[in-house]
Amino acid sequence: DMTRAFNFSAGPAAIPTEVLERAQKELLNWNGYGCSVMELGHRTPDFQGILDKTEANLRKLLKIPDTYKVLFMHGGASHQFSMVPMNFLAPEETANYLEMDHWSRMCIKEAQRFGNIHLQQGIRTNSEGLMELVPENEWQLDEKGKYLHFTSNETIVGVQFQEDPHTFSGKLVSDMCSDILSRPIDIEKYALIYAGAQKNIGPSGMTVVIVREDLFESFHTERVPSLFQYPYVSEKGSMPNTPPSFGIYFAGMVFEWLLENGGVEQMYKRNLEKAHLLYDYVDQSNFYHSPVAKGSRSFMNVAIQMKDRTHEERFLHEARENHLIALKGHKTFGGLRASIYNAMSLDGVKSLIRFMEQFERNVT
Ligand code: PMP
Repeated sequence: DMTRAFNFSAGPAAIPTEVLERAQKELLNWNGYGCSVMELGHRTPDFQGILDKTEANLRKLLKIPDTYKVLFMHGGASHQFSMVPMNFLAPEETANYLEMDHWSRMCIKEAQRFGNIHLQQGIRTNSEGLMELVPENEWQLDEKGKYLHFTSNETIVGVQFQEDPHTFSGKLVSDMCSDILSRPIDIEKYALIYAGAQKNIGPSGMTVVIVREDLFESFHTERVPSLFQYPYVSEKGSMPNTPPSFGIYFAGMVFEWLLENGGVEQMYKRNLEKAHLLYDYVDQSNFYHSPVAKGSRSFMNVAIQMKDRTHEERFLHEARENHLIALKGHKTFGGLRASIYNAMSLDGVKSLIRFMEQFERNVT
């Protein structure tokens, strides 16, 4: 079957078809150079040009001020779980972490190796059994903590901050893996933002870090390996060693696609439209429901449950036959999940809703 499906994967996730086609066209002979970017030396002016343009376009998309460094790093977001405390925290110091679901717990476990971690619960089950954010006015943070780390969007359960935290007077650090580039961000509120590429940026294996440069001199890096020091990676222009060059090139193509399609502001509008359509449908249904309370719902990862969970397997199977793929919820949470990142079209969401209606009719 040669049909390209609507891909609802949480990550690695859908990449815009136009970008894949461009990558395909450029694969054997990039820019008349006679080889692909995969085969291009990273110390060549040509690759430096790709890197510079990729950075410039990301700066344009997110309006990143000059006082911030943009780093394209190896590895997943999970590497940043360690790198953040390795750079920011001395062993006797404290940092605040919001405990959400799986990803923030993984993150907290790593941070605890490097300093004192003050935990604040960020997510809870309400009286109706729905997941919700703990309101900020109920948080108790250590105001002397070096920073507050939070996961802006919990990919697995589909809970997302609706606004930046604003009561903590110290530095904000955020894992924005699953909502970077989906909405405008006020970068200046943050000390550091990181995001693995495989949702809204490009293929896996590369992570974007946006960090306030003036913090570098306060970092505790004496015992940190150079490749894990932000100032070192920055000083080397994201190339302390061979960078994930193909991933950087690919991200660059996605950034150009975003700019051609109205940038982050336009994506945000479309993302809200897609999410509202899906949540509205689920809310009026007696067959499906959302496990997340209104006001805490993610517009990137829409968790959906069927009242009768025995239909799940059949749903996933028939969805697949209808070219709607990767709708299975994370193994720790179950149910269904539609990840509707930037590359998912409104058409894709409408197709999913049509399929859900039809499935309900067929089994009831
Ligand atoms: N944080 C969040 C919010 C995520 O969704 C993920 C991956 N899905 C990660 C961290 C971990 O990313 P990686 O696999 O790139 O380490």
